[in-house]
Amino acid sequence: MSKIHDNKKVVSSRRSDLYHNRRAVLTTMHGKEVVISPAFRKRLGLRVETPTGLDTDALGTFTGEIARIGTIRETAIAKARLGMTSMGISIGIASEGSYGPHPHIPFIAGGIELMAAVDDDRGIVVCEHLIDDSPVYDHVITAESGDITSFLNRICFPVHAVIVRPHQTDDSDAFIHKGLRTVEALSDAISSAARHSSDNRALVQTDMRAHMNPTRMATVRRLANALSDRLATSCPGCDMPGYGLVDIESGLPCEWCGASSLMILYQVFGCVACDFRERRPRPDGRTHADPSQCPQCNP
Ligand SMILES: [Zn+2]
Ligand SMILES: [Zn+2]
Repeated sequence: MSKIHDNKKVVSSRRSDLYHNRRAVLTTMHGKEVVISPAFRKRLGLRVETPTGLDTDALGTFTGEIARIGTIRETAIAKARLGMTSMGISIGIASEGSYGPHPHIPFIAGGIELMAAVDDDRGIVVCEHLIDDSPVYDHVITAESGDITSFLNRICFPVHAVIVRPHQTDDSDAFIHKGLRTVEALSDAISSAARHSSDNRALVQTDMRAHMNPTRMATVRRLANALSDRLATSCPGCDMPGYGLVDIESGLPCEWCGASSLMILYQVFGCVACDFRERRPRPDGRTHADPSQCPQCNP
């Protein structure tokens, strides 16, 4: 059982020397190096290279032709290792996203983005993730003659590109049109896809590949900043990089009755290499919970 430090004086240190001038490989096919590489170079001095000719789609794709195997964490780590092996570099970075119904809020779309850094010199894997509450992620089903103007306006087409495929087909791999960014290409694709669908309709979806979806690209940028910050933070116990938030503890006392509420009481920080753990109070300084979050006052 590891000892948890409650001492507010425990300080993890920010360091810029942990990865200075080291080489890392970023495995990406969708232009994410534009936002990821500068984050790691600026914050860590890490020299990030992007291999050419790697087929990361073999690990699963957004358009669904190849199902992703494993969790997004496992996929991101496998992707990072693919690049490390191909380039013979001991540090690898990769990111992975998944979009669908929001994990916590009903009836809205959400996305989870995860980025992994694998450091085989130190034997550590450091991950950061974030949840995107307002991704540009949507779809519409239309006949060839249908008017989808309101959908296109909603997703900011053509800034965000779309994918078109037959709505109902036996062969889901066939007749997919990706990365569409002109009205002409879109209308040709809808005609073709509708003809190949048993209900004469086309499925039009946002293309979630980062270089086709600037909203997603901005999320990946935020995540790259967060992961490089984490890699610049060393463990107070063993000095390894990657120290950061690993858990939360709920139970903030209710401001009416003092009972433990569902709201977060502590953030738990931890190390990826040793069992050092530290409780920190909420960053917003809140010490009592709203009674609406209290199981006693609002059962
Ligand atoms: Zn440690
Ligand atoms: Zn209460």
